[in-house]
Amino acid sequence: MPEAHVLHRHARDQREALAGQVLSVTSPQGKFDATPFDGHRLLDVQAYGKHLLHSFEEAPDLHVHLGLRGFFLRTEDLGLLPRGGTRMRLVGERAAFSLIAPSRCEALDRDARDALLATLGPDPLRAGATARDGAAQRLAAARGVVGATLLDQSVWAGIGNAWRAELLFLAGIDPSRRIDVEEAALLWDLAVEHLTLGLEAGQVVSDPSAPDERWVYERETCRRCGTPVRSWTLAGRTAWVCPTDQS
Ligand SMILES: [Zn+2]
Repeated sequence: MPEAHVLHRHARDQREALAGQVLSVTSPQGKFDATPFDGHRLLDVQAYGKHLLHSFEEAPDLHVHLGLRGFFLRTEDLGLLPRGGTRMRLVGERAAFSLIAPSRCEALDRDARDALLATLGPDPLRAGATARDGAAQRLAAARGVVGATLLDQSVWAGIGNAWRAELLFLAGIDPSRRIDVEEAALLWDLAVEHLTLGLEAGQVVSDPSAPDERWVYERETCRRCGTPVRSWTLAGRTAWVCPTDQS
């Protein structure tokens, strides 16, 4: 599933390419009512955890969640026909974006937008260092083991399975236990640092000296010590843990 760094990259890309322009907005697939947005000026695009919100002049907000399989395609060839199954197409003056297979693509009025944002915890790529204490208390106080609470978007927003595995490895924490507020603060610092690297690189980065490598995620052995990686289902997703480096 696309995690926060991917959504923040989409937000930045679409903001730079389209904001300030009057857009053509269509649904080639016909499963989305584009009429509230078509012909309106795009003001901004922001990511909140795994959610994207497009704000338009004199229109509701547009909410996109990619879910497990959704993705955007970008083209500068504005005459190119969108591929089949395109849920929504945004066309500006120099670039067009096609949205394929999202889990959500919908109009939100102000109340619905506020209600959505109220369900989300702090996002390391939005809140950064200033939110450290509050975010740490929130994670440490959340009910359940850290491997579950880290994926709970109401606790922190934007962490998915790959970041869960790699951040907990970097912190030396086993996901099947609870953590204290100092450990939660360490995890927040690691999340801010590495999600920022991931935003620039366009992928999960847990070792800046080897950005294509992972420590334990989807590995058979730990990249640091060679111990066989233990994996099991935790909070609905596969956890990956080095029994030597994490306790
Ligand atoms: Zn190890």
